[in-house]
Amino acid sequence: MKKSPISKISLDGRDFYVKRDDLIDPFLAGNKYRKLYTLLNTPKEQYNKIISYGGTQSNAMLAIAAMCKSKEWEFLYHTKEMSNSQKEQNDGNFFHALSLGMRHVEIEEAYYKEYIASLRVHLDEKTYVIDQGGADASAKEGLEVLAQEIREANLDVKSLATPSGTGTTALFLALALPEYKVYTTPCVGDSVYLKEQMNALHEIPKNLIILEPSKKYHFAKLYPEFLEIYKKTLACGIEFDLLYSSGMWKALLEQTKEEILYIHSGGVSGNVSMLKRYAKKFKIHL
Ligand SMILES: *Cc1c(COP(=O)(O)O)cnc(C)c1O
Repeated sequence: MKKSPISKISLDGRDFYVKRDDLIDPFLAGNKYRKLYTLLNTPKEQYNKIISYGGTQSNAMLAIAAMCKSKEWEFLYHTKEMSNSQKEQNDGNFFHALSLGMRHVEIEEAYYKEYIASLRVHLDEKTYVIDQGGADASAKEGLEVLAQEIREANLDVKSLATPSGTGTTALFLALALPEYKVYTTPCVGDSVYLKEQMNALHEIPKNLIILEPSKKYHFAKLYPEFLEIYKKTLACGIEFDLLYSSGMWKALLEQTKEEILYIHSGGVSGNVSMLKRYAKKFKIHL
């Protein structure tokens, strides 16, 4: 399996290291690569179908689609109903996932919850269900591999950072590296919700520090200060995603002082559609 390199950047006069998990693959990168590690190492004969569900521009969806293509597994992905304009986009994660062979199943809003809850009923042994965002104890192994790569890099840094959706990545990373401080921040929901999600997987260890955002941000909404940070890091030579990383960088710049190794969580493939939304909303050329 592939190891990712480490870059160094200077941001607001501070040095940061960046673990370049974004470079692993154009579609199967970042923490989704780490979370799918166990499945990626599963012999292809073991399954013939993967089922998942969630958002229509999800990075997990695209990563699973890329994995299924390489494994020759069928991939069935369930979402709520989509608008025609969303379906007709010819770039972005949904478009790429379809090109990789994903089969899309739309579920009416009223039946969605019930339908998803029933996905595991009558499964045959060649089918595997991945929950939304890959929040799954099987992510542990892939994050232990990442932890080993971080140890081997032997940097003079004792703090790490990575943004959270379900918190699976930050949690398993903190568990695998008790000698490091691991910073994270909630990007989907607030920190109460994040702690609940984490606690469902494992007790939260003391070295995991959840930074509270300085104001309430709603997931996938557009904020000028997020675009600002995106541009700043891009000027340093690294593109980060516009959904998760901006909140993490903001919290790190405002609330920490020490040298930090930032674990790039990937998601850059989703920026095309996000940048279009930014350009339209703020009437700017990007
Ligand atoms: C999925 C994702 C996250 C959140 O990961 P969790 O393990 O769910 O906390 C963070 N950043 C990016 C770019 C992602 O795609």
